[in-house]
Amino acid sequence: EYEHEKIDYVFKVVVIGDSAVGKTQILSRFAKNEFCFDSKSTIGVEFQTRTVTINGKVIKAQIWDTAGQERYRAVTSAYYRGALGATLVYDITKRASFDHVARWVEELRTHADSSIAIMLIGNKGDLVDQRAVPTADAVEFAEDQGLFFSETSALSGENVESAFFKLLEEIYKVI
Ligand code: GDP
Ligand code: MG
Repeated sequence: EYEHEKIDYVFKVVVIGDSAVGKTQILSRFAKNEFCFDSKSTIGVEFQTRTVTINGKVIKAQIWDTAGQERYRAVTSAYYRGALGATLVYDITKRASFDHVARWVEELRTHADSSIAIMLIGNKGDLVDQRAVPTADAVEFAEDQGLFFSETSALSGENVESAFFKLLEEIYKVI
């Protein structure tokens, strides 16, 4: 859409979190406004891009997706290198995926730049009747750790756009 415009900045963003929380679907929703019903688990490290305008600047978000290496400590430091932002995703219907968020924050603190902006995302917000993680628990954790927070649904698209824009705006503020 911005083919002929000059890119002012490229922001690398990494998506992390347990397997099956919806990382790839959130990314596809943001990058292509798609939700794929028969998606296979991701093979190979890949990224998707979307170019947006923030404060009149053309910013290419280069968003990296894990390649099924979500096992603890299997994501390598190369994945985090140069990342200015991270979306840390859990599934609101899977308590364990939220309990593991602290480990993922630890991973970021170990491997990523200390100034990285982090957006905690509780995904599958469309499955409220199966909710296992109260919003208040996540809000408290996010405040405690200095993370931004949003609940999204990659399926309906709810809040996906606003969560990524918030993160990109925060990155823009500090670069
Ligand atoms: P990843 O392993 O974290 O990349 O997870 P995927 O993006 O592959 O999604 C895992 C499963 O959850 C798939 O069956 C998706 O269709 C499903 N899923 C992802 N996001 C949502 C969502 O927002 N709502 C619902 N109901 N299902 C979702
Ligand atoms: Mg995936």
